Amino acid sequence: MFGSQGVTSNDGYLLFMSRVVVIGGGVIGCAVAERLSFDRHQVMLLERDQLAGRASGAAAGELSPARPSDAQSLAMFPELVARVEKDSAMNVEFRVQQGLKPAFTGEEAAALKQEGGRWVDPAECRKIEPALNPDAFGAVLIEHAHLTPPRFVRALARASASRGAEIYEGTPATGFDVAGHRARGVRTPDGLTAADWIVIAAGPWTREVASSAGIDVDVRPQRGQLAALDPGSLILRRSVFWSNGYLVPKGDGSIIAGGTEEDSGFDDRPTVEGIARLLELSRKLVPGLAAATLQRVWAGLRPVSPDGKPIVATSTIRNVIVATGHHRKGILLAPLAAAQVADIINRAK
Ligand SMILES: Cc1cc2nc3c(=O)[nH]c(=O)nc-3n(C[C@H](O)[C@H](O)[C@H](O)COP(=O)(O)OP(=O)(O)OC[C@H]3O[C@@H](n4cnc5c(N)ncnc54)[C@H](O)[C@@H]3O)c2cc1C
Repeated sequence: MFGSQGVTSNDGYLLFMSRVVVIGGGVIGCAVAERLSFDRHQVMLLERDQLAGRASGAAAGELSPARPSDAQSLAMFPELVARVEKDSAMNVEFRVQQGLKPAFTGEEAAALKQEGGRWVDPAECRKIEPALNPDAFGAVLIEHAHLTPPRFVRALARASASRGAEIYEGTPATGFDVAGHRARGVRTPDGLTAADWIVIAAGPWTREVASSAGIDVDVRPQRGQLAALDPGSLILRRSVFWSNGYLVPKGDGSIIAGGTEEDSGFDDRPTVEGIARLLELSRKLVPGLAAATLQRVWAGLRPVSPDGKPIVATSTIRNVIVATGHHRKGILLAPLAAAQVADIINRAK
């Protein structure tokens, strides 16, 4: 432990400052670093490549709650964004907006009406979103939010650094110094770093990283592809969600079409088939996008657990916490994951 004096955390816990090493500079690792540095722990974050270089930088930035835990995390954004923007002097482009979930069959309409949200009939659909496919039977209007993921991740890291956290890019964790059921530190090419707590937030690489400490984490990569379209003069004001895909209008005027779900191992390159599916989806939802031009295509690897739920828990090595498996919702769930990790550390005597 560092320091003999207890301090009171922002949640009112009497806590002892711990030295915490966070492995992984994606949204989960950076949100954890931000939260722990806010709670006055001594944080070191190790990123193998660069911050937001993987799924967290590839993500569309949709914050669309479906489950209660999604809504709980979404509710944490306004305060987190205000704090992080102040401490990082960055703008993460967070905004609350409306989205549409259209139905193209009577069956889809019946299912959507049960989900909640206001049902909008075809005439109103055409009025509020004239570019939407006129074949829609209607749509559900939902409230959601949006931000720009690479900015958010870098802002989280910068805010942590402003409170004394050490952030290292190009620095892989290569192993652990384990004694019994505790890890004494993390190995990097520069040597051994001592730690009271270690948080493994290495996305789909968490399994490989954790295995070097003898910890088994069942998480695998799932590829998701995206395409950025330049819609010309076509205007889409709201995000449109249908089946597993979506169209997201961005602040720079582009529209992001996403996101496929594929088992491709650790191959994160976009494919002709994946992008073709996204372009078909774009034309189905907004036929005028047939005239759009293609700006960019890319892909990322989501971390997925067998039941699709996040894993945020201590492991067989008691001071090693695993935080991964956030699948399609890692940006949305980052504040909640960070609070869960902080709770484990702050409650420990
Ligand atoms: C196409 C696509 C669109 C998406 N859209 C959304 C969206 O709109 N909204 C949403 O909420 N979610 C979205 N997601 C999901 C979200 O991106 C992920 O759930 C989230 O980014 C996972 O974050 P992470 O920090 O766990 O993993 P990652 O972003 O993969 O970060 C893990 C980091 O660990 C590093 N690492 C690995 N091994 C080591 C090591 N040995 N030492 C040090 N560092 C290491 C990696 O280099 C990487 O930077 C999307 C995902 C994809 C692929």
